Amino acid sequence: MLGWIFFIAAFLSVSLPAAPTIRHPLANVEWDSSRNPTEDVSHLNQKSLRMEIQRGSNLYILLRQVGVSSDQIMEILKAARPLRNLGQLPAGTKVLMRWNRSNTEIPSRLEFLLDPIRSLVVDKNLDKWRARIVAAKRNVRYMGFSGLITESFWESSQRVGLPAHLAIELADVFASLIDFNRESQIRDRWRVVVERVYADDLPVGWGDIVAAEFDNQGIIYSAARFEKSDLRRHYYSRNGNSLIRMFLKSPLKFGRITSGFSQKRFHPILKINRPHLGIDYGAPRGTPVLAVGDGVVEYAAWRGGAGKTVKIRHNSTYQTAYKHLSRYAAGLTSGSRVHMGQVIGYVGATGQATGPHLHFEFYLKGRYVDPLSVDFPSADPLPQRYIAELQETYDGYFEHMPPWQDPQKVELLLTGTSGPIRLGSE
Ligand SMILES: [Zn+2]
Repeated sequence: MLGWIFFIAAFLSVSLPAAPTIRHPLANVEWDSSRNPTEDVSHLNQKSLRMEIQRGSNLYILLRQVGVSSDQIMEILKAARPLRNLGQLPAGTKVLMRWNRSNTEIPSRLEFLLDPIRSLVVDKNLDKWRARIVAAKRNVRYMGFSGLITESFWESSQRVGLPAHLAIELADVFASLIDFNRESQIRDRWRVVVERVYADDLPVGWGDIVAAEFDNQGIIYSAARFEKSDLRRHYYSRNGNSLIRMFLKSPLKFGRITSGFSQKRFHPILKINRPHLGIDYGAPRGTPVLAVGDGVVEYAAWRGGAGKTVKIRHNSTYQTAYKHLSRYAAGLTSGSRVHMGQVIGYVGATGQATGPHLHFEFYLKGRYVDPLSVDFPSADPLPQRYIAELQETYDGYFEHMPPWQDPQKVELLLTGTSGPIRLGSE
C-alpha cells in the first residue's frame, strides 16, 4: 500500500459557452405541473403560472382554460408562426404565463420551453404580439455523491446514481494509486464532487470531477482538480503531490487478477512447477489493454507461447510486456511512442493460454519484478508558487463534499433490507 495519504484540490473559473445575461423567468417561480388551471383561477391576478401541455391537449385548449379568447389565441399563434407552430407543441412542453395586474384576462407574456437551452417568448408590446427566441443562461453547480462498497466499486457507484462515465473518471483519478479492481474491498468508501451544468434551473449535462476521496481500509486518498495554463491538468493532494504516478497500477481498467507473481507455480498447461514471473488479469476477449506508462514500443510481434506481445521501454530502468493479445492497437509498431493509459492492444488468448487473459510483465533493469510490490515514484509535484492557490481551490471544492457513508450500512445493503439509497446532493 502506498504510504502517502492526504491530497488536495484546486479551483477554477469554469468556462462555458457564451452566457447571455437574460434571466430565465422559469427560474423565479416554483414549477407545479400538477396544477389544474381550470380549478384554480383565483391566483391569476398574481404574476405568473406555469403549466404543461398535456397529452391529447394543445395550446388552444390550455389558453381557453385560463380564459384567453379565441381571437387572442389566434394572434399569439400568428405572431409565433415564423419561429414555431405553437398549435403543435408536443405534450410535456412547459409554458410560463404572466399577467399584469391591470389585465387579468389576457396574459402579457408567454414563454415556451423548447429545449433545455432555448425558450420561445411571445409578449405584447403596444397592443401587438411579437415572438422571439431567448437563450437560457448556463451555469455550473457542484453536486456530491457518496458511496460504500459492498461488492465492487462499480456496483457502489451505480447504487447511488453516479453516471457511468463519471465512475470511470473517478477510477481514472486514482488510477496510479489504487487499482479499483484489485484493491477496493468491502466497506471501502468514496465520495466525489462533480460539476452539474444547468441551463437556467434545468440540469442539462455533466462536467468534470473536481474533488474526490477514497477510503481504502482506513487509508484515505484525497484529490482535487487544479489547472494552470503552463501545466497539464492534474489532480493533486492538498500538499501539492500529483496523483499521476510514473505507472498505472493496472494495464486494464476493469479486470481482475487471476494469478499473481510467484517464483514457483504449477503451470496449468505444461503441468509442471514453473515460476510465474508476471501477473494474469482475467478479462473478456477484446478488453482494451493500456500502456502503464509513457515509453517507446520495443516490439509488437508474435513471441512463441506468449502469442501476440507488446513490449514497451519506459526509460533506461523500466520495461513492461503485455502477452496473449488478440490484436494490437491500430498503427502500433516497434518504435511507436506511447503514453500512459494509451490503448496498445486487446485481451486475447494467442500462444499458450487456457482462455482470454492478459499476462503482464514488469522489468527493472532487465529483471522481472512484481509490479504490485514496487512503490514507483510519482510525477512532479505542483511547483511551490502554486501551493497557496491550490489549497484555496481544494478547500473550496471540499466544501461541497457530501458526508461519508456509514460502513455499518454494509450489512443492511447486503441483506437488501435498506432498499436503494441515493446520496447525490447539491
Ligand atoms: Zn501469466
